[in-house]
Amino acid sequence: MTGNAARVQAVQNITNRRPMPAKQPESLSSLWASDVFTLSKMKESLPKEVFKSVKKTIEASEELDVSIADVVALAMKDWAMSKGALYYAHVFYPLTNATAEKHDGFISVQSDGSVISEFSGKVLVQGEPDGSSFPNGGIRSTFEARGYTAWDVTSPAFIMTTDNGATLCIPTVFVSWTGEALDKKTPLLRANAAMNKAAQRVLSLLGHTNIAPVNSSCGAEQEYFLVDANFVNNRPDLLLAGRTLFGAPAAKGQQFDDHYFGAIPERIQVYMQDVEEQLYRLGIPAKTRHNEVAPGQFEIAPFFESANVATDHQQLLMTVLRNTAKKHGLVCLLHEKPFKGINGSGKHVNWSVGNATQGNLLDPGNTPHSNTQFLLFCGAVIRGVHKYGPLLRAAIATASNDHRLGANEAPPAIMSVYLGTQLDNVFEQISNGKITGSLNAGVMNLGINTLPTFNKDAGDRNRTSPFAFTGNRFEFRAVGSGQSVAGPLVTMNTMLADSLNWMADRMESKLAQGGDRDSVILNTLKEIIDKHGAVVFSGNGYSAEWHKMAVEERGLANLKTAADALPVLKQPHIEELFNKLGVLSPVELASRFEIYAEQYVLAIEVEAKLVVSMAKTGIYPAAVKYLSDLSSTISGLKSNDIELGNEPLTRITKLLTAMMEKLDKLVDAIAQHDFSTIEEHLQFCAKTIRPLMDEVRHYADALEGEIADELWPYPTYQEMLFIK
Ligand code: ADP
Ligand code: MG
Repeated sequence: MTGNAARVQAVQNITNRRPMPAKQPESLSSLWASDVFTLSKMKESLPKEVFKSVKKTIEASEELDVSIADVVALAMKDWAMSKGALYYAHVFYPLTNATAEKHDGFISVQSDGSVISEFSGKVLVQGEPDGSSFPNGGIRSTFEARGYTAWDVTSPAFIMTTDNGATLCIPTVFVSWTGEALDKKTPLLRANAAMNKAAQRVLSLLGHTNIAPVNSSCGAEQEYFLVDANFVNNRPDLLLAGRTLFGAPAAKGQQFDDHYFGAIPERIQVYMQDVEEQLYRLGIPAKTRHNEVAPGQFEIAPFFESANVATDHQQLLMTVLRNTAKKHGLVCLLHEKPFKGINGSGKHVNWSVGNATQGNLLDPGNTPHSNTQFLLFCGAVIRGVHKYGPLLRAAIATASNDHRLGANEAPPAIMSVYLGTQLDNVFEQISNGKITGSLNAGVMNLGINTLPTFNKDAGDRNRTSPFAFTGNRFEFRAVGSGQSVAGPLVTMNTMLADSLNWMADRMESKLAQGGDRDSVILNTLKEIIDKHGAVVFSGNGYSAEWHKMAVEERGLANLKTAADALPVLKQPHIEELFNKLGVLSPVELASRFEIYAEQYVLAIEVEAKLVVSMAKTGIYPAAVKYLSDLSSTISGLKSNDIELGNEPLTRITKLLTAMMEKLDKLVDAIAQHDFSTIEEHLQFCAKTIRPLMDEVRHYADALEGEIADELWPYPTYQEMLFIK
């Protein structure tokens, strides 16, 4: 390539870059959770009674005994200081998908001017950050700034180490002075509690006693892109919006399927190992890594953990991915669609529920037809997705995720459930009123003597389903890569709680009327599948036939954009759902709508402004310069009787004029501010601003294919995706 000066420099920098040496890996046992104040560290450092009390809160969800806080705080501080920490931070999770932290020193100045270190139980348990700069969706005005953070004992404290030192981090919830949740953790803890309560009811009806607390688990598969920082620094769109707003496709994309599961490039592998080492220190069980479908795209998946801890760990994982990339001269893009024309990134949220006494409640075993416990929990999920599909859609509604859903690379915006052949068949039997048996998956015989035969899974996989059963869990596959997993988990646990309560009510009243347990269970399941079976779909979710059938025959919603989906949060039955189960009060829910709607509008506004500035200050000048060079060359040649023809001049001028016309329209649209409702503003962003941005891009990308490469101002797709 020739490229302009900045691009040439970027490529040179990368070519001459000395690789970060791979570190000599430490042993897993010395790395594992070394920066976490784990239960075993507490056991070593706390008096027996205190340890027992903390353990009960963590493991049996018993109320925290605040009187022990001073002792725990002291042990925590001593441990943190032994690891070099001079500061502590209450870490919390505001409604922005980000993580927030306020640092305070352990230092305490004495009257004689000397200093000691101090960390009391009071400051461990409760913090008071000025919360006024965090979105609160109208819960309070800015002058009412008080917000509280409160220690979440169930998520372990840890040390975050950067080149600038170590900080003791304490996971907390974040609430307003009036007690409303301003964060993503509080509703998650509440939804989990509601699900536990409802699950206990159903398990009791099955005859179980002494049932351990039921918890939800989450294993999240994180996709991401890595691009060399030299390129990103020359792309205002990647810097500020996290995605490219311009860029013609490279001649090669992902069509050869040669990247997926391919050999991991050396520079990337060194990066991944660095990430994994830090994750291990933080007690995050990174387990799987591989190349993803698109060039420059990768995936990391930790082993699953309890939903609350997994959610905190997911936030940390995103931070570690980003920070480590910087160290390696890369930028980690967690945007759902950084590059047009190749796959975007998602985050599959694997979710199940279970406890210590009954195990995984979504494990069907080998003969699901006779596993009533499984069938009831699975049935409850089916009912939940059918009843609250639009809510699930709303829980993943962001400006960035809109680019993926329904683009034949990620599940459609229609929420359906994939069960697989074996379970489809069992539920069909239930619907027919008689359960006879489970289809056998059989063995896979490869016909080669030296290779073992193995048992096949009872169901295939379906990449096109947004909500797929995968053997012993459901996988919510439509979640965005940059999102916190808290929202989806809150939604899944809440819809499950609602279904389990409905089930328990139903069964209790039928049993009270003298029904026998087996037929009461069968009838309840039959009612579910007859009423809600429309949500079960095993075919191709990408196909046009499904989109038509889902909406017209099955009555499922197809909420294509976040602008369509977010208003679901305002529906009365959704308000009732969250309120009844104590997950979100009406005020808290309304604030979520306001905040997510505002974020949608702001994200699109930032992008639109970038489109205007990049087109005006980068692309237009490049095109004009090329036109001017070309026309003088053509005239010069003409005076020597060489006829080159004006055709390229005409073609480029046409494209440029068309781009500027669209740009004027976009500028006018951005200036529009009088909307009577938020909903109207959302629709304007989705239906007017976004399409205008696409139209500007259409002409700009065509110009990229016409103008001399040395004049093109921005790193190209070829450079960003293929040079590392
Ligand atoms: P795949 O790409 O085949 O879907 P991965 O191995 O990449 O699978 O990721 C699957 C994720 O699901 C992992 O995080 C795994 O720990 C998690 N998982 C496995 N069992 C459960 C379960 N019962 N509940 C929640 N998550 C689970
Ligand atoms: Mg998966």
